[in-house]
Amino acid sequence: MRPLEEAAKEAASCAKCALAAERTQVVYGVGDPHAELMFVGEGPGFHEDKQGEPFVGAAGKLLNRMLSEVGIERSDVYIANIVKCRPPGNRDPLPDEIEACTPWLTEQIESIDPKVIATLGRFAGAFILDRPISITRIRGQRFARDGRVVIPTLHPAAVLRGGEKQVDLLREDFGTMMQVLSEPRPSASTVPVPVPVPVQPEAEPQPDQLGLF
Ligand code: URA
Repeated sequence: MRPLEEAAKEAASCAKCALAAERTQVVYGVGDPHAELMFVGEGPGFHEDKQGEPFVGAAGKLLNRMLSEVGIERSDVYIANIVKCRPPGNRDPLPDEIEACTPWLTEQIESIDPKVIATLGRFAGAFILDRPISITRIRGQRFARDGRVVIPTLHPAAVLRGGEKQVDLLREDFGTMMQVLSEPRPSASTVPVPVPVPVQPEAEPQPDQLGLF
């Protein structure tokens, strides 16, 4: 497996999708290439596009605050995004952009091999868990996947819009990340698992009561 710097160099001139035309630069990712905890966000915003680093704007400040509350340095984790170039006007990334860009992310994940992947928001959660998700429904749960634990959580930008209650939910999920980091890795499945398996299964929906009366 090649070093991340080599992949980052190649990514810097990527033109696999239309976002290349409007970017200032590719925002590949930042942090410890051997991190146990990796964050995956959606895509660079205005400040990230200018500075070339993920999560440096307001959402990044909240991410930094959560990290410092649990006693982790930003430089000890790895931070990347689903798409590496800024979608104009901060719009959602389009399916063809996600498809073109995510091989970079897959390579990052395989190279870093984190124990925990914390996905930030709906797009990152859906890509990593490989299915459409409701982030408010599954946030904070743990999913075993390829010998790693995926913990979907809220996107810090959405949390900023949602107020203190949302900050508390994000804080709770950072607590879960810390808990999982202290536990052994789940064993890697030798058989590809099409649907993520919750480590702590979600409560089964109760079947409708049959007409007893
Ligand atoms: N939002 C993201 O999803 N990623 C960033 O890098 C910044 C804001």
